[in-house]
Amino acid sequence: MTTGAKRDYYEVLGVSRGASPDEIKKAYRRLARQYHPDVNREDSAESKFKEINEAYEVLSDEQKRAMYDRFGHSAPGGGSAGYDPFGGGDAFSTIFDAFFGGAGGGGQRTQRGPQRGADLRYNLRLSFEEAVFGCEKEIEFRRLEGCPSCKGSGAEPGTDPVRCPKCGGSGEVRQRAPLFNMVTVTICDSCGGSGTVIPIPCRECRGEGRVRQNHRLIVKVPAGVDSNQQIRISGEGESGPRGGTFGNLYVALDVQQHAIFLRDGNDIILELKLNVAQAALGEDLEVSTLDGTEKLRIPPGTQTGQTFKLRSKGVPFLRQNGRGDQIVIIRVMVPAKLNDQQRRLFTELAHTFDPEDQSSRDEGFLGRIKDALGL
Ligand SMILES: [Zn+2]
Ligand SMILES: [Zn+2]
Repeated sequence: MTTGAKRDYYEVLGVSRGASPDEIKKAYRRLARQYHPDVNREDSAESKFKEINEAYEVLSDEQKRAMYDRFGHSAPGGGSAGYDPFGGGDAFSTIFDAFFGGAGGGGQRTQRGPQRGADLRYNLRLSFEEAVFGCEKEIEFRRLEGCPSCKGSGAEPGTDPVRCPKCGGSGEVRQRAPLFNMVTVTICDSCGGSGTVIPIPCRECRGEGRVRQNHRLIVKVPAGVDSNQQIRISGEGESGPRGGTFGNLYVALDVQQHAIFLRDGNDIILELKLNVAQAALGEDLEVSTLDGTEKLRIPPGTQTGQTFKLRSKGVPFLRQNGRGDQIVIIRVMVPAKLNDQQRRLFTELAHTFDPEDQSSRDEGFLGRIKDALGL
C-alpha cells in the first residue's frame, strides 16, 4: 500500500536547488555510504540507494539537471529514469489501454521508413476517492510533436527533401567483398535509411521534423485503480522524427492515503473506537463509509478486535461489476481518566463481578485481525 511517488531529486539528496556541483557530489557520497545495501541492512536501504543514485545521475550532469529544473520528472530524454519507457516502469502493471487498438505497442523500430516516437511516462497523483470511484484528470506535459512549420518533413518551407545521393533513394548501401563474393547490405548513413536528405533544414526544428510543445489531454481513470498501476494511452507519446508515428503514453498512478480508511485490495478497513459502556451494552451506531454513513448494530458484549462486515461498501472492482466490503474493526477504549462519578460507578460495578469469571468471548485478538484481513 506504499506509494510509488517520485520524490524531488534535490529533496532526495537533501540539497537546495541552487546547490553547486561540489555540494551535490558531497551529499551524494554521504548518502550513498549511509544507504549502500552492503552496509545498511534495513529493507528500505536498497530502494533508497537506487533513488539516491538516480537523483545523482541527473543532478550531476549539467544538461540533465537543466532539463530537470525546467520540466521536473517529466523531462523527456533528460536521462531521468522516470521517463525511460523501458526502465523504471517494471513495478507497474499496465491495467488497460485507455484507447483501443494498442497496435503500436510493440515498440519495434523499423530500420526503414518513419520511426516511431518515444514512449513517455507521466506520474499522476490521485486522491483516495479519485482512485476508488474513478475520475477524469487533465494533464499537461511537454512532448515532441510534428513541426508545424515544415509539417514534419524537416525541410525548410518552400524546399523539398531530395533523393539521397549516396544510396540513390534505396536507403541501403551495398558493398561487395571481393574475396568471398559476398554482398553486405547496410543502412545508408547519409540518410539514415529514409532514402531522402534535406538540402535546407527547417529553421524551426533544425530538420528533425518535430518540436517540443505543451500537450494537454484528459485521462479517464476508471474506478478501482490503485498505486503501482499504469494506464497506457496509445499514440499520446512523442512523435517520431520526420513524420514518424507517435509512441505511447504511460500514466503511472500514485494514490494517496485516506485519513480514516485503509485500503486492502478491494476492501476498506475502518477502525471503530467504542467506550466500555458501548461495548458492554451494545448500541446502534452510524459509521463512516465511502458513500456516507451506514447504520451498524453493535451487539452487547462486543470485544476489541471483533469485526463487522458492511457488504459491498468497499472499492469497486476494476472494470467489473461489484465492490469489495468494508470491514469495521472494533477497538474498545478503557478510559484513561475517570471523573468522580465514573470512579464511583466503576467501583460499584467492580463489586458485581465474580473475579473467577473471565468470561470474555475473546478468541484471540490477532486471530480476528487475521480473519478480517483474510490472511
Ligand atoms: Zn520543421
Ligand atoms: Zn541514403
